[in-house]
Amino acid sequence: MKLPVKIQTTLEKIQNRTRASRRLRLILISVAIFLFLENLLLAYNNLQAKTPILGLKIDNQIISFHTAPGVERIVNKKFASLPTLKFLYNGQIFQVSAKDVGVNNNSNLLTAKILTLGRTGNLWQRVVYQNLAFLGFKSQKFTADISERQSALLALDLQTKIAREAQPPMPDFKNDSTKIIPAADGKKLNTAKFLILLRENFFNPPPNPIPLPVEKTFTAAHSEEEVRVLGTQSRELVQSPISITSSGQIFTLTTDDLKTLLTVVERPNPQNPQNVVLALRLSDTKLNQKLGEFATKVEAITNAEFNDHDARIAIYSQFYSGKRKNIVIPTGKGLAYQKVLGENTGGEKSIYLTFDDGPNDIYHPLILDVLKAKNIKATFFLVGNLTQKSLNVAQRTKTEGHAIGNHTLTHSFLPNLSRDAILKELQSTENILNIINGAPVTIFRPPYGGINTSVQRNSQQLGLKIKLWDVDPKDWSEPTVDELVRRVVTSAHPGANILLHSNHMVTARALPRIIETLKSQGYSFKTLE
Ligand SMILES: [Zn+2]
Repeated sequence: MKLPVKIQTTLEKIQNRTRASRRLRLILISVAIFLFLENLLLAYNNLQAKTPILGLKIDNQIISFHTAPGVERIVNKKFASLPTLKFLYNGQIFQVSAKDVGVNNNSNLLTAKILTLGRTGNLWQRVVYQNLAFLGFKSQKFTADISERQSALLALDLQTKIAREAQPPMPDFKNDSTKIIPAADGKKLNTAKFLILLRENFFNPPPNPIPLPVEKTFTAAHSEEEVRVLGTQSRELVQSPISITSSGQIFTLTTDDLKTLLTVVERPNPQNPQNVVLALRLSDTKLNQKLGEFATKVEAITNAEFNDHDARIAIYSQFYSGKRKNIVIPTGKGLAYQKVLGENTGGEKSIYLTFDDGPNDIYHPLILDVLKAKNIKATFFLVGNLTQKSLNVAQRTKTEGHAIGNHTLTHSFLPNLSRDAILKELQSTENILNIINGAPVTIFRPPYGGINTSVQRNSQQLGLKIKLWDVDPKDWSEPTVDELVRRVVTSAHPGANILLHSNHMVTARALPRIIETLKSQGYSFKTLE
């Protein structure tokens, strides 16, 4: 039978519609089943979160029959017993342990990973995966965070050690073999490479120590002639001792001392500033250590402040001129003014920690971290031009509740400057600091404690109160951490105004112990105003 075209089309339409609705029903049923199963799985997962995990291994340790918190306990225990990572440099082994870098189990990440791999998704896949894991074919690595700040601290510490060690063997001044500068000159840690190695190897330390990535500090190749001239110069510079006198006490750098203090550095070439030339100077760190010992002796005998600024200038002027005559360094303000310089606390057992010479992006934030962790407020005397370089750090100092004081624009010894220059040093620093402080900065500490009538008049004019100190542990001379803690703690007293610096590693290292000890002795901490 042949139906008319019109009827035929209508029939086909009806048939098609029926087919379409059947397909739709099928899809709807599938979706319903899918949603049902998915909800079932979700419910199953929720239930499973509190029940043992089957078949999973973490770093080859079977963690079957443990709940998620149980697994976390296993991982935490593993962190506590992490083997130390060893680095080798110059025949010496440097060990890095979990407590050095601050390893934390990232429990959120760990739980998420265990749940994802063990309990969600395709049921069949999960069973296969767990069985594979159970049979030892699959293992899950545990995850952790290494503290960025702690790692940086560790790198800085290593860098200091390497720099100190590398100096004497540079040119061998001690044994007078100054003719040749060996190929291995000054050395320093390649911090970026070190941090990568630390990250990559920390959780699975190789059996043998990893060589520390150390590089030469000399950037350019130097001509034989240049090295020869340096050799001659160095012999002249170390052939007679340098000495200064302060309060009748003589400080001498013997010819042997000078040999160990001498160091070679690269300087911009005066004729062609794009290039560098070799130059001789005294190692700042070692000179500071020696001067620090002398300063402590002078102050103990005279009860007056040792003028390390002038002492250093006197030593360097003799060093470079080659003329050696004993220079007398007058001592500064008498330390008999202790009661004036310390703060009147009205009998309260409180103490003032003060940090000069900041801000900077390395040590200053480390010190802020310690103060924050210990919930202590301190006073920071900031240098104007350094503040412009590290604005964020300066701002953080204020935000975290510390007091801010003026420490001049360029950290100059003010009594050497004209009245106008002194005013500029103070006023321009006020302009910078007042913005950060949100109010006029009203305390001022002259660098090196350098005061004369002009300094006094200028600060008065700007409404600045001069705040010196009465406890000077000389952290600038880089004593050991133990020694620095000892110096602060033994001279602490109610109202003590303690002079520290926010640009030294040893200060950041010693600070937690200084605070803990003073706290245990019943001290509270205040800021200067
Ligand atoms: Zn200073």
